[in-house]
Amino acid sequence: MDGNINSPGAGTENPTGVEEVEGQTRAIIQSSLNALLDSNTFLPELKDNMRVQAFTSMSSILSTPNKIHKSFLRVPLDDGSVVRIPSFRVQHNDALGPYKGGIRFHESVNEEEVVNLAFLMTLKNALHNVPFGGGKGGILLNPRHYSDKELNLICRKYVRYFSDVIGPDKDIPAPDVGSGEREMDWMMAEYKRIKHGSPYLGSFTGKSVANGGSLGRREATGKGVYFTFRYLFSDYVREHADELAASDNPFAATALAHANRPLKLAVQGFGNVGSVAALEAYNSTETDNKVVAVSDRNVTLYNEEGLDIPALIAFANTNRGDLPSTIDQIAQTGVKASIKGRDKLLTLPVDVLILAALENQIHEGNMREIQARVIVEGANAPTTQEADEYLSDQGVIIIPDILANAGGVIVSYFEWLQGRETQFYTEEEVFRLLLAKMKSTMDIILPQFFGDPFPLRQNCFIHAVMRLTTVLYRQGKLY
Ligand code: NAD
Repeated sequence: MDGNINSPGAGTENPTGVEEVEGQTRAIIQSSLNALLDSNTFLPELKDNMRVQAFTSMSSILSTPNKIHKSFLRVPLDDGSVVRIPSFRVQHNDALGPYKGGIRFHESVNEEEVVNLAFLMTLKNALHNVPFGGGKGGILLNPRHYSDKELNLICRKYVRYFSDVIGPDKDIPAPDVGSGEREMDWMMAEYKRIKHGSPYLGSFTGKSVANGGSLGRREATGKGVYFTFRYLFSDYVREHADELAASDNPFAATALAHANRPLKLAVQGFGNVGSVAALEAYNSTETDNKVVAVSDRNVTLYNEEGLDIPALIAFANTNRGDLPSTIDQIAQTGVKASIKGRDKLLTLPVDVLILAALENQIHEGNMREIQARVIVEGANAPTTQEADEYLSDQGVIIIPDILANAGGVIVSYFEWLQGRETQFYTEEEVFRLLLAKMKSTMDIILPQFFGDPFPLRQNCFIHAVMRLTTVLYRQGKLY
């Protein structure tokens, strides 16, 4: 096995202690643990020094991954040269089940980023009561710079290098930025070849339906993202309008101000997540909203009367996923839109921003110019800590990543179950189960959110950390 830094087979328990989850997330874990430490209804049997010690143990368990696997994939290219591509698999925590998380194909992938994303997966699964732990993978490349044949080899090499540490009951990868069902099919096929005779359908999720994937997986994250927004501002506010009106919680005022009136939405990122969330908004009959802006890696398109999302999706489908970015291309789609700079989308006069591109998009440099009072995090960690605090202090409601974008992992769980049973659900059944699961999480979190002074992200973290702490305590792991 050439090029391994840590032998994947061996794995290393937090080898150096260096790669801990970054400051923002650490701070939120710590304040969640502090809130639970002070709560006399949470694990009341844990008292005095034992209680303090258990919470200190929990803090170290959550802020460090269990294992970090890294390799340099040796890949012969079409022109005969050989490259070595850095690749990672981070296994953060498996208290609730096998590690689970996507593999990102991107030119800025690095170990710290993968550790943070793996940690978010641990929390996301705990929050939504999905029986998986948290993991994440990354391959440092720009997939557009490689031929299909080269990408196929890269995928197979990744599986070869990490085959000892992944598998249906150990660690189940899925697509992330830059990867999709094609890559998962290739990877599953390689896993099947290596582990000949073992169950393999559950080794990867996000596969094509032809290869044992679930109907509805591709749309799941975008649908879930839009659902969290719609459920909060439409169903929940309607049912709890009187309580919210009587509350002095600043977020209750924001929620009421955005219910039952026309809303303008802007969607950053027009890939798997962004395009589906935009289409859900476009097609919604329950809420009066218009998607007035969308953006991708090249451009922002804007029309204050609303954009024709199906026409833009049709264009992207035949243009490697890109939006039209020239006047000629826009004319070709028949869409009415003006072209603006890529990042202009974030500061447009809209009510709701759906962030579905990459992390750190709203930050200290642009947070004061954000006009939206509602932000929905389809991407992972698109808001920095400074921006999160600043906007939350202004009463902006941020529906955080671990709540909003869990649709993908929830349907991945259904895919894994279907693969185990070799019984497959209809698309209608998948969406029904998905939205029921997200609703059940929202129904626990929203009353807490409107009843206390914490932002929604903090409420979600507290709930996830509570579930993990309970399980680890009952497993005797906090001594
Ligand atoms: P994708 O690769 O399909 O799409 C990404 C989109 O973002 C593309 O339209 C791209 O052009 C655009 N983009 C890239 N850089 C941009 C920039 N600077 N400004 C504006 N747009 C930019 O990826 P995806 O699967 O849609 O994932 C998007 C985000 O959602 C990622 O953060 C991912 O981790 C997160 N996420 C995805 C899933 C899933 O199931 N796909 C699940 C959970 C979270």
